[in-house]
Amino acid sequence: MKPWFRRYAIVALMVLIVTLMHYNTAMHIHAAHGIYRRLYYFPIIIAAFRGGRSGGLGTALVVCAVYLPHAFGLIGHDPGATLEKVLEMVLYVAIGLVAGVLEDRERRTRRRLQESLDERERLERELVSRERLAAVGQLSAGLAHEIRNPLASIKGAADVLGDTGEADSPRGRMVAIIREEAARLNDVLGRFLAFARPRPADPRRLDVRDEAARLGDLLEHRDEAPRIVVTVASDPLLVLGDIDQIRQLLLNVGVNAAQAAGAAPDGEVRIDARRDRGRAVVTITDNGPGFTDEARENLGNPFFTTRDQGTGLGLATSVRIARDHGGDVSVDEARDDGARVRVCLPLDPEAG
Ligand code: ADP
Repeated sequence: MKPWFRRYAIVALMVLIVTLMHYNTAMHIHAAHGIYRRLYYFPIIIAAFRGGRSGGLGTALVVCAVYLPHAFGLIGHDPGATLEKVLEMVLYVAIGLVAGVLEDRERRTRRRLQESLDERERLERELVSRERLAAVGQLSAGLAHEIRNPLASIKGAADVLGDTGEADSPRGRMVAIIREEAARLNDVLGRFLAFARPRPADPRRLDVRDEAARLGDLLEHRDEAPRIVVTVASDPLLVLGDIDQIRQLLLNVGVNAAQAAGAAPDGEVRIDARRDRGRAVVTITDNGPGFTDEARENLGNPFFTTRDQGTGLGLATSVRIARDHGGDVSVDEARDDGARVRVCLPLDPEAG
């Protein structure tokens, strides 16, 4: 059954019954006609509750249309005074309209209330999950910290064993593996701790142009470096920030770009630093394979990686540092000629 039919079936039935009673009652029974006229208010009000203004008004007009021939003697005849009957029809329309408008308003209020309840529920769920994540983060940072000390002992012991000069023997190769893996583990733990427990920032005024140039130098001296092109604005780009953290932020993005461009035949990384609407913007573009949709959606999420040896902590750390400095890191929409990552930092307003 169609929804509107289900909604108005009872209304239509009531109008039909009242109309039939009206049409079939003898003219001289005044009191009955008076009652029937008033009975029409029930279907009008019910329709207004069910369909709002359109339901109430529509039903009032239908009632007027079916009552008119009877009121003015075309089919049977309502013996009431003409003025009374006309007023009654005006009231049908007025009541249908007012009841409908009130119902519409009530529905809007209910909807708004429901929306704010839904929003509140969503926020509560988010809060609980953030608290849980924070607790897990604390716990893992504690564990990482605890693992570092015994790991340093293992590495130290392996270094001593490795110094005995049996590099080509099976034993020497095993010791080399232990040293390599301990160093790798130490590196991962270090990155994780830098992300989970950043040391307190020491903000100073620095010129982002110098940091962009420094990043270019660093990338140029990496193994298998792609071509590096640095362009910077002519005016200083002074921001207030922790220099080590800002360097870390740019280095993470830059190393990713260099690794990605290294995969292209004519690998190139462009670093561009300029001023844009009160911010220093460093754009790092490479001509590697570009971000996958998934990697772009997961920007800033720790441990998301598509690389075999990746930790998924580089960009997450960069995003965190940028946000801590009142800025952000963003990746351009899908590009078929590589990746473009934009790092924005607010310029120091007091630098002039
Ligand atoms: P990792 O380098 O350890 O994978 P990151 O947090 O630095 O971790 O990067 C997360 C993911 O973002 C990478 O695994 C990769 O999928 C994507 N990504 C980052 N930089 C680039 C880039 N320049 N080009 C393409 N993909 C990138």
